Amino acid sequence: MATRRRPLINLLGFEIRFDLTWLILVALIVWTLGAGYFPVVLADLSTGTYIWMAMFGAFGLFASIILHELSHSVVGRRLGMRIKGIRLFVFGGAAEMTEEPPTPRIEALMVIAGPAMSVALAILCFAAATLLAGFNTPQPVAIVLGYLAMANAILAAFNMVPAYPLDGGRLLRAALWAWRGDLIWATRVASLIGGAFGLVLIVLGIVSALYGNLIGGMWWFLIGLFVRAAASSSYRQVLAQRILADVSVRRLMRPDPVRVTPDISVQQLTEDILLAHSLKEVPVVRGDDLTGVVGVADVKAMAASERSNRLVGDIMRPAGDRTIAIDARADEALAQMQRTTGGRLFVVTDGRLVGVLSLRDLLQHLSIRSDLQSDMKDVPSRHSFRGPADASAA
Ligand SMILES: [Zn+2]
Repeated sequence: MATRRRPLINLLGFEIRFDLTWLILVALIVWTLGAGYFPVVLADLSTGTYIWMAMFGAFGLFASIILHELSHSVVGRRLGMRIKGIRLFVFGGAAEMTEEPPTPRIEALMVIAGPAMSVALAILCFAAATLLAGFNTPQPVAIVLGYLAMANAILAAFNMVPAYPLDGGRLLRAALWAWRGDLIWATRVASLIGGAFGLVLIVLGIVSALYGNLIGGMWWFLIGLFVRAAASSSYRQVLAQRILADVSVRRLMRPDPVRVTPDISVQQLTEDILLAHSLKEVPVVRGDDLTGVVGVADVKAMAASERSNRLVGDIMRPAGDRTIAIDARADEALAQMQRTTGGRLFVVTDGRLVGVLSLRDLLQHLSIRSDLQSDMKDVPSRHSFRGPADASAA
């Protein structure tokens, strides 16, 4: 799966990004609707009409997926959750969180918002289709609306299957979590069901392909693989967050990080610091006080000829989201690393730079802890850190 994402639009303060794989979904939906579904439902129309119907149908479906995710995101934000944005990819969409909900109640409310939106859209489209059919409007319009009613109903139903990390699985987890008060156990049970459901989809996909439905079968097969992978990585993520919640940044950070002052040239920064130490980003200090960060991206943004006569002070950025307090917990550091992109945080106390903490330090600690504790046999890996996903497969 490609991971390159492009910003698309900003809706209600949420950045909507799409993976390039999303284009596969667009093409597949337009083709399935225009060449398969609509000609079967309503025969003898011109090719041009089928193309328009397919485009409106696909557009409506994607708007529905975005509204589903937006609904999760808006409710999540109201309840105090930090939402990174909405991601659209080959299997649909996901509202990306950087941390687990703090209570089962918040998780349940946030989860139910998505399918509730899909059900509302299904009812709305169905009502509109029925109404329009009575008013002698062109039949294709009613047919497209009818399709959208059905698609939203399927979206709601599929997502309510109790297989983590689908919405239904998240609800199940919230219920188990509320019952026993143990988030890790609840996630483990819900993601085992998620893994089993993924396996069912894989088998159904193979059987379906053997019976001649090649594209549909392949699709179910791939969604099955995706659900299985998402179930296990979401579980590891929860495990990692819980392990790290007991440790402070102070214990895991490395003291005395490489640093620069604002008065050296960009040329010196590049050769003596970034290249010499293989670093992508370094803190800028005045005395001991952290005043900013500077890195490869800032150097790259300027012309090569200017590097010898410009100073670090001219191009550095505020350190804001790259800093963390020495007494913060390591799970907070992990969530912050997932929100930002650097993978390294500069540790401060009273504005003074005292250390650096990298994702590698956190992973190292997790790996040692899970080696020492036999009940934590699922070693969280680097691949686990993509944020819990809400998968709304279409
Ligand atoms: Zn959802």
